[in-house]
Parts: sequence; structure tokens; C-alpha cells
Amino acid sequence: VQDRLDLLKSNTHNTVNSLLDLKALELAANVDAKIESGQEIGLLEGIPFGIKDVYMVQGTLTTSSSELLKNYKSSYTATAIQKLLDAGAIPLVKENCDSFGHGSSSENTIFGAVKNAINPELVGGGSSGGSAVNVAKDYTVFSIGGDTGGSIRQPAGYNKVYGFKPTYGRISRYGIMAYASSTDCVGPIAKSIEDIRIVLNVMSGKDVKDQTTYQSKAISEEAVLNADQIKTIGYFKNFIESEAIDAQVKSDFLASLEKIKAKGIKVKELDFFESDTLVSTYYTLAMAETASNLSRLDGTNYGARIEGDNLKDTYSITRSENFSEETKRRIVGGNQVLSQGFSDEIYLKGLNLRDQIADNFEKDFQEVDIILSPVTPSTPPKIGDSLKDPLAMYLSDAYTVGFSLGQLPTLTVPQGTATGLQISAAKNNDELVLKFAHFLK
Ligand code: GLN
Repeated sequence: VQDRLDLLKSNTHNTVNSLLDLKALELAANVDAKIESGQEIGLLEGIPFGIKDVYMVQGTLTTSSSELLKNYKSSYTATAIQKLLDAGAIPLVKENCDSFGHGSSSENTIFGAVKNAINPELVGGGSSGGSAVNVAKDYTVFSIGGDTGGSIRQPAGYNKVYGFKPTYGRISRYGIMAYASSTDCVGPIAKSIEDIRIVLNVMSGKDVKDQTTYQSKAISEEAVLNADQIKTIGYFKNFIESEAIDAQVKSDFLASLEKIKAKGIKVKELDFFESDTLVSTYYTLAMAETASNLSRLDGTNYGARIEGDNLKDTYSITRSENFSEETKRRIVGGNQVLSQGFSDEIYLKGLNLRDQIADNFEKDFQEVDIILSPVTPSTPPKIGDSLKDPLAMYLSDAYTVGFSLGQLPTLTVPQGTATGLQISAAKNNDELVLKFAHFLK
């Protein structure tokens, strides 16, 4: 624990400054005492982990990498994190990310851009960039990211580790700083399928504090080892034939398909919505939801407050001065989407498209067991480039957001393509995803 803390302290771009609040050394000392006195230990006893800084952990700063919440301390602990603590895991660090989850590069943060673990001139990916980099560099054994439209899967791909977005509702969202509540998912980033499985099991389960949760069966080690039931996989033809796909990503993906065929699995081409439709549907809904969720940050209850001449001024100055450009862009966009005169035309259309996307998946999963996709069309950009062109950044999410809108379990594995391979299955079939990942190894 001490060694990892030292590494984290000297790599502050992966972390936010709440390392010491977490009392990792005290907790580690307790583990030794427990073992010496012969007490029973938890499944994750003594395992050091990281937490994207959008999770409440009582008594620690929870900044969401934003100016507005720079000094905000959580008064309670998120359900998923509490379950890990109860299993004995040791929280080492709150991790740098795009502010409020808004971004795909972990540059929209007050703590400085997260650098890619493989090539530090490139972005770490986002929004859970600090979490993926910490795992890749072995600063944490696993990290808990958050995935609304790809934020676990994409940075996992960019840093060549595993990142899992479970079925929506498998893990409680209670105590996560809400971005877009209808697709927000809690999930692990780790270096092996086995670690993903164990951490997933610990965090899963129904929670009365999040009414969208459901009770799931724990996934056993034996279940993951046997992939006999997987006969057919599919992939979206338009993703692979798109002009936007990087040549390397494409040829790596096609090579993976050949390998899979050689193992006796049938491979089917599937039709899907165009990238533009997926990205605009996702951003319409995500912006609407974040505008609503962030309306509570008005200088009265949480975080920074800049006094104006009257209450309305206080709201507006506090928000204008403390939200980043990217976050303001989304709030303005979201409020427009939801406003009278526009909402029927834009917001309802977004909801309708989301239903069509979910129906499309449902049909596909009657024909195939698994859907495969590259994580992103292109390889990680250089630090600084994403900030110049927000629209290009939104479009780089083309391959991840569909699975979010479908609320499907989707795992990034660090092989297959230059940015990793995404494995997806029907809703609640998280086990099948892990089976196929193991089969591919
Ligand atoms: N890049 C996407 C966005 O900015 C996804 C982010 C996320 O999953 N938190 O909305």
C-alpha cells in the first residue's frame, strides 16, 4: 500500500488530491492485525483499489474533477464502494476524470490532462481516464470507473486493460454523481477477467436506494471457463465499412473475426444505425439528463458559491465561473432540448430512437449470442487535440454509445484491435460476456 501511494503521489495527473483522506495505511495496518489475531478476512481483504472521483466516500473530497466541487466533502458512501470496503478492499485514491463524466479524453478536468499509460503524449481516454491508467501502471489492482456512454470501455481500450460496463441496474448508482441517470453504470477496470468477475460480484445486487437495480446471480469461476453455448457472433457491418474507421483498427478487427471463425464460431454481419444517429441520440438524451441533474449545483447546497446581488445572480455567477466550457456546452444544449417548443421535436425523438435501438439489439440477439465491435473508430488522440474540436470528440464515441442506450453488458478486452475489442451480450447476460472474453484469450 505504501509503495503504491508513493507512486500515486508522484503521478498526480492520475489522481485528485484526496489521497490522504482515504486512510489507506491505517486500513492496511488493520488487515495485518486481523490476520495475526486469526480473525476472518473479507474476499478482497487488503487489495488496494482506486475510485473515479464521482463516487461519494464519506469524509473524502468528491470533486468530479470540477472547480465547483473542488472543496466538497461527501457526507455518505456510495453503495457499490461500501460493498467493496465491507469486503476488505483498501481505497487508495480518488481518480482524475473528465468533469462530471463530460468527455472522452480526461482533459476536461481541473487536475491536468491524464496521460496515456502506453504513450504519455496521447490522452488517457475518458472519462474514467485516471482509473484506467492507474490499473495499467499497477498503481491500483483494480479501479471503479463510471460508464454513461463509454467512459469505462474506451479508456480501458486506450490503455490496454479490461473494463466492464455491466447491464444497467446490476450495480446500484446510489452515491455516484449523476451524469445521465438512464445510462449511468458503475463498473470495474482491471488486468484480468477473473478480477473483473470478482469485483463485479461484490458490487452487484438490488439496492432499495436505487429502484432501477435488480438482484442478479453471482457469476462463478466455472461458468466463465465454459463457453460451449456460444455458437454465433455478430458484428455491425456499417461500423467496419465506415469511412471514419482507422485502417489499423479495421484490419485488426477483421483479423479477430478470422481467428474466431477458425475456432468454429459462426460470424454474422448485422445492420445497425449509422454513427451520426447513434451519437446524436446519445448526446440529445445525455445533455438533457445532465442539464437536469446538474441544476442542483447552484451555489446554495453544495460546493462553491459566488455571491451576487440577488439569488438569481448568485446562481448564475456561481455556475458561469465554476463549470468548464464543455460542461456549460452540455447544460445549454440540454436545456434547449428540454425547453418548450423543442422538447417534442428533439427530446421525444431521442427517446423514440433509443427504443428503436433497443429493439434492434433485441432482434439481433435472437440470431447471435454475442456482438463484437472495436471500442473506437480511431486510436487515442494527442493531448490537446480533442479540446480543439468537441464535435469530433463526440463522434469518437460512435461505437460505445449504442450499447449504453441499449443498457447492455459490454466488456473491453485489450486485444483484437489497436483500441481493444468490445464484447456485448443481451441484457442481464453479463456472464456470457465474460465467458466469451475467456474463450478468446
Ligand atoms: N464520452 C461520452 C460523453 O462525454 C461518455 C462519457 C461517459 O461515459 N461518462 O458523454
